[in-house]
Amino acid sequence: MNAIKRVVIAGGGSAGWMAAALLSRTLGKQLSITLVESEQIGTVGVGEASIPPLRNFNQALGLNEAEFMAFTGATFKLGIQFEGWGGADDCYHHAFGEIGTQLGLTPFHQHWLRAQLNSDKFDGQSLWRYSLNQQAAVANRCGLINYPERCPISPLEHAYHFDAGRYAQFLRQYSEGRGVNRIEGKIIQVQQHGSGDIAALQLDNGRVVAGDLFIDCSGFRALLIGETLGVGYHNWQHWLPCDSAWAVPSELGQQLKPYTRAIAHEAGWQWRIPLQHRQGNGIVFSSRDMTDEQAKAKLLDSLDGKPLAPPKLIRFSTGRRDQMWSHNCIAIGLSSGFLEPLESTSIHLIQSALQRLVKLFPASSEMAVERQRYNQQAQLEMEQIRDFIILHYHKNQRPEPFWQRLAQMAIPTNLQRKMALFQRSGQLSRDNDELFAEMAWLQVLIGQNMQPQQYHLLADGLSQSQLSQLQQDLQSIVRQLQEALPPHQDFVQRYCASK
Ligand SMILES: Cc1cc2nc3c(=O)[nH]c(=O)nc-3n(C[C@H](O)[C@H](O)[C@H](O)COP(=O)(O)OP(=O)(O)OC[C@H]3O[C@@H](n4cnc5c(N)ncnc54)[C@H](O)[C@@H]3O)c2cc1C
Repeated sequence: MNAIKRVVIAGGGSAGWMAAALLSRTLGKQLSITLVESEQIGTVGVGEASIPPLRNFNQALGLNEAEFMAFTGATFKLGIQFEGWGGADDCYHHAFGEIGTQLGLTPFHQHWLRAQLNSDKFDGQSLWRYSLNQQAAVANRCGLINYPERCPISPLEHAYHFDAGRYAQFLRQYSEGRGVNRIEGKIIQVQQHGSGDIAALQLDNGRVVAGDLFIDCSGFRALLIGETLGVGYHNWQHWLPCDSAWAVPSELGQQLKPYTRAIAHEAGWQWRIPLQHRQGNGIVFSSRDMTDEQAKAKLLDSLDGKPLAPPKLIRFSTGRRDQMWSHNCIAIGLSSGFLEPLESTSIHLIQSALQRLVKLFPASSEMAVERQRYNQQAQLEMEQIRDFIILHYHKNQRPEPFWQRLAQMAIPTNLQRKMALFQRSGQLSRDNDELFAEMAWLQVLIGQNMQPQQYHLLADGLSQSQLSQLQQDLQSIVRQLQEALPPHQDFVQRYCASK
């Protein structure tokens, strides 16, 4: 058994530099950390929307939020607006944060459901009158305000739209400042011990970089985990058939919106992500249902501003590695698997993989127990997110063949059970450490037009007049808080303007 002293990171995209930053921050005194990257190969060059836990990652690194936002051209993200996902004219939000307020054991949405089921017409959209995040987002507002004491509505919850390439540069400065050794060079061969463990990376400039533990952040190439160790890939394209994307930056067309737009089209969807210095745009599509040229034309035709670079085509296979940790190699980032960016989860998966690795960091080359636990947790996490993404596609009422196939397909059992429970009595069940909270599931289920048959009996605990009063009070508090917020664009200018 040899002690783990030398960590080698293969790849310097967001995954590589996030790994270098967190490991140098947490275990930098105990480890020597080397990162190898090739400017000639470059990075995938996309990735602009995040979810709120990224704030915890940045806090763990001790980053200053305003500095991080200025450097990466970031804006605030309060949620995602889904356009055309249920029926072609539908529009709903997955807003971060709480909706309404829980009374005792009764989740707020059960009271709301009772009111809706007892009214003449079920109005799904009324749910968002109780979401501060959604109301602020559609009013283009975001900022810091003083919340009244014991306010029943929880404060705004935010993530960021940012330039992931600049984030990697930011973290590179941070990591090199903490002793991480960066080596420029192309990996041309991977040397292994007789056990199969990786021993060293051989570079095109003749250097050999030896290590005890290797982190494969080489992107879709998966140089170590796939090409060298031969770990297979679990393909999920039968559930998530989009396999291609065009991405293009454009000039900013309008006021900075504090939310991502995900706009469904006949064979996939498009994203719009406002940064301070440009808008990120992309189209995700199924190559079975749309040609590359059709998709490119659709994207370019719908831009709000002039394109700033030629569109870039990216192919992908949705799925995950059979094992994310094999031998002495842990795959993090695109090498470990891919879920399309609909719920902005890839950078989060890097973050949570790193947090898991730090917790389970092996002391010696005898690492089977840590590896087993890591793989089990990583697999479950990805499957839970996968199911949430499938829900957006499956529960649709669109007429096109692509959408019809998705509406009719057999879905994973766990998702089936969740939907059945919700359909019955509006109940939501979050499994263990599942990433997406009940509020996230609720919004997508209601947004995609799923209407529960009944509400939970607990909601009968309020009298009719108490229920009406509760609804009025909460709506009025949300409205007042929203109106107190500054316009998003002004706040970004004041708080974190890019230099
Ligand atoms: C269309 C699309 C949209 C996306 N949008 C989002 C989003 O909005 N939000 C989000 O969270 N995520 C998004 N992602 C995912 C996100 O881009 C990635 O998860 C993230 O950038 C991490 O990439 P990576 O570091 O794993 O890989 P890469 O960026 O590809 O980096 C790989 C690194 O390995 C190096 N490398 C490869 N081969 C060699 C070699 N032989 N020798 C030396 N170095 C080598 C490269 O030079 C590079 O430094 C999106 C992905 C796609 C495809």
